[in-house]
Amino acid sequence: MNKKQKKNLYRIISAAVLVVLLAFLPLPKFVQFVLYLVPYIIVGYDVLRKAWKGILKKQVFDENFLMAVATIGAIVLGEYREGVAVMLFYQIGELFQSYAVGRSRRNISELMDIRPDYANVETEDGLEQVDPDEVDIGSIIVVKPGEKIPIDGIVESGQSTLNTSALTGESAPRDVREGQEVISGCINLNGVLKIRTTREFGESTVSKVLELVENSSSNKSRSEAFITRFAKFYTPIVCYSALALAVVPPLVRLVFMHAAPEWGDWVYRALTFLVISCPCALVISIPLTFFAGIGGASNAGVLVKGSNYLEALSKVKYVVFDKTGTLTRGNFAVSGVHHSEMENERLLWYAAHAESFSDHPISESLRAASAVPVDQSRVSDVREYSGKGVTAVVDGVNVAAGNIKLMEQLGISAIPCSHEGTVVHIALDGKYAGHILITDEIKPTSAEAISQLKKQGVRKTVMLTGDRKKTAEAVAAKLHVDEVYSELLPADKVEKVEELIAQKGAGEVLAFVGDGINDAPVLSRADVGIAMGALGSDAAIEAADVVLMDDDPLKIVKAVKIASKCMRIVYENIYFAIGVKVLCLVLGAFGLAGMWAAIFADVGVMILAVLNAIRALFVKRL
Ligand code: ADP
Ligand code: MG
Repeated sequence: MNKKQKKNLYRIISAAVLVVLLAFLPLPKFVQFVLYLVPYIIVGYDVLRKAWKGILKKQVFDENFLMAVATIGAIVLGEYREGVAVMLFYQIGELFQSYAVGRSRRNISELMDIRPDYANVETEDGLEQVDPDEVDIGSIIVVKPGEKIPIDGIVESGQSTLNTSALTGESAPRDVREGQEVISGCINLNGVLKIRTTREFGESTVSKVLELVENSSSNKSRSEAFITRFAKFYTPIVCYSALALAVVPPLVRLVFMHAAPEWGDWVYRALTFLVISCPCALVISIPLTFFAGIGGASNAGVLVKGSNYLEALSKVKYVVFDKTGTLTRGNFAVSGVHHSEMENERLLWYAAHAESFSDHPISESLRAASAVPVDQSRVSDVREYSGKGVTAVVDGVNVAAGNIKLMEQLGISAIPCSHEGTVVHIALDGKYAGHILITDEIKPTSAEAISQLKKQGVRKTVMLTGDRKKTAEAVAAKLHVDEVYSELLPADKVEKVEELIAQKGAGEVLAFVGDGINDAPVLSRADVGIAMGALGSDAAIEAADVVLMDDDPLKIVKAVKIASKCMRIVYENIYFAIGVKVLCLVLGAFGLAGMWAAIFADVGVMILAVLNAIRALFVKRL
């Protein structure tokens, strides 16, 4: 509990003790009035002040106003104890709520405990501990076992195992050695690592992830926005209804029935009505549910950029996948070199060099396949053709490496390949020089992910790829995706997604899942763009609405499950809170429920709704 919460707790306790004491003292009415004002002021002064400020600012109708009117009204009617008790319960509810919100905030930041406190920078006179913010790009930092990697970089020396669970939600450790890239936020488990930083702290993965989680509350979902709007209309309606309840029945009795108007009774009922109608449970629990849902998801390695995307995810009916790097590993192995007049090694050497500046999975695989390490200083004039390939000048030779579309564009006649797999055609100085056949592997969990998505209510799965038809259809058949479209350029993918969006029904959501390499336009065009394997890829983190921290397709299923659970809780709370309210309002209007029952129901509903909301935080087992 923080200081303010403690102070409020003392206020509540002292007022409660006073009320109990006063209840046992037989005092004349006027003395009672004066004495009950003491606990009333102690426990309610801030509510009264806020209500007054609201009136001055012409934003009259809020819950402070409701509480102030109801309790002052009760006191004026001579129901002193009730007036104080209502205020007391209201404050208990408020205290509980602020405690719960604080707890889940802390919970989330504990779960997201990836912010490094310092970096050990190597200097001439030994190690120096500095703020990660002050470390320049290219510095050497030392990370000892048990420490967090503070900044993204490349291992200069040492080897170790990293725990990535804070980022990915998976506990599978990752081995790293010299020359490999490491990302901030992982915990170094055993060896000492010397790392040359490749980014500033502010640009490092940790900062990006934290920023994303912190900003997610600004994208409000429809149900959340609905609650805010609802409260805005609802409170004035309730206030006027209460006024009507206080005035109309007595007048009817007086004028038409010639009976005693019973003003006191009806005013009391109207006040009860006000207490009951305070919409706290909803106003509090809905945002809290989303907050907890987003927090729980990030703990599982699923970063959701706002509650609107969480809501959308729960309604996903179409899932469109990119092939390479999403459903397949993107680790191509060279399975053959055909129609080459030069040595195979030589052709691979040209290909690897021409590709040396690209971060496409194909390029990385070709670099890895080349026996001789790539020397980037021999490469110039690099041009990438998205969805086609690359051209570059290597040792003075014009090299083109890419698919048949690239060859067509360059006016080179290529020899088609009859084998299954992805083909990289190579041309040297405008002359066809043969092709490299590379094959990719389907990720082990892709098929399972697709069948589980179906079980989650996804109507159709679609695969889009720039790869050739032959390869695409082989992959699609193995995975049982419903539709497959191949040989698409990035712009064609956007068009296909737009077509699918036009076909779907109202209220249905289309999600696109990609690896973030050359599919940013599609990611942003889909209703929900999901980028996977985003560890270290800024472009994907920027373009996507949902970021999966590792590249396991089952994470997509997990994201949908988390979203569904969160929305289920949201609706449970909405129905429960409104149901109890309506019941109490009816009982109150007929004089069957007094103010006590009202405040009890209100605080009770709120506590239950808040506890229910916190359930959204726990998503590990989904
Ligand atoms: P996917 O839709 O499967 O993710 P891309 O749109 O990234 O595929 O690429 C489509 C096709 O373009 C690839 O199958 C490949 O034939 C070709 N291609 C793209 N980039 C490169 C590259 N850097 N080198 C060689 N070929 C490439
Ligand atoms: Mg791709």
